[in-house]
Amino acid sequence: MPMIPEEEIERIKRETDLAAVIRSRGMELKPQGHDLVGLCPFHEDHDPSLRVTPGKGLWRCMACGATGNVIQFVQRFDGVSFRHAFELLKSGKLSALSGPANGAPVKKSTVPKLDSPLAPDADDQAALRQVVGYYHARLKENPPALAYLQKRGIGSEEAIATFQLGFVDRTLGLRLPQANRKEGAALRARLTRLGILRDTGHEHLRGRIVFPVIAENGGIGTVYGRAIDDGGKHERHLFLPGPQRGVWNPAALRSAEVIVTEGIIDALTWWRHGFRHVTTAYSAKALPEELLGALIAAKVRRVFLSYDRDPSGEEGTAEAAA
Ligand code: ZN
Repeated sequence: MPMIPEEEIERIKRETDLAAVIRSRGMELKPQGHDLVGLCPFHEDHDPSLRVTPGKGLWRCMACGATGNVIQFVQRFDGVSFRHAFELLKSGKLSALSGPANGAPVKKSTVPKLDSPLAPDADDQAALRQVVGYYHARLKENPPALAYLQKRGIGSEEAIATFQLGFVDRTLGLRLPQANRKEGAALRARLTRLGILRDTGHEHLRGRIVFPVIAENGGIGTVYGRAIDDGGKHERHLFLPGPQRGVWNPAALRSAEVIVTEGIIDALTWWRHGFRHVTTAYSAKALPEELLGALIAAKVRRVFLSYDRDPSGEEGTAEAAA
């Protein structure tokens, strides 16, 4: 929940028609003064005890005491998490629904589905590209993540678009087909094998800005994630599991001179300041074979090593130069 900016929650509460959402779940509401009343769905109600105050965006049951705003109504009625209820309302899917004509309560199985960003027949690379595309779209809706990029001096629209930067706001799982369906199980198994999901079902890079390594043909080599909250318990730097494949910013190899940095954010910092012939070795450890091979194949004449000024950076510089 802390991942949703407070102003976004306020906006959803303000812009959603509470009565329409309640009616869309199959309940009848009748006017009574400034309020609306109906049968409470949260207890065995025979006398209309649910009181809805559209002007305040609040509902309350006079008999069982259940109460809340529109997000909490959906959360409770549909048996979903706060985050899931928020995403459903934001997608506009709930208020567009109309309940059964006979007013019978809507069953839980009719929770509307959020659109999945993944095609069911995607192969590994297509699935990775679709996930990267989804994370990219989510970044634009996450002011704290954008603020982090600004603070690091790499938040220009050009940089974000060129390198398909994204943010993992933990919502991918809400959009995948259910794990107990064949299609959902297959997709989740694929994403787990690719390292996007962990065995627990959580997103591996959650809470992080992501920097995909994209080849000129669109192939994704790996994805680097940087936590935006240094005080958190997460590791700051994380890649997808497995070796770091691919060369970040392959366009740099067209230059006779190339700058190689320790990390992607360092490389992006050079790039942002007009030094576009820059790539990264992903760490201060040995230069990756693939990068070395690519530098040689591209006939790059001179490489500038730009590692951190700390013992591991100094050591890495000497090793890479050798
Ligand atoms: Zn009640």
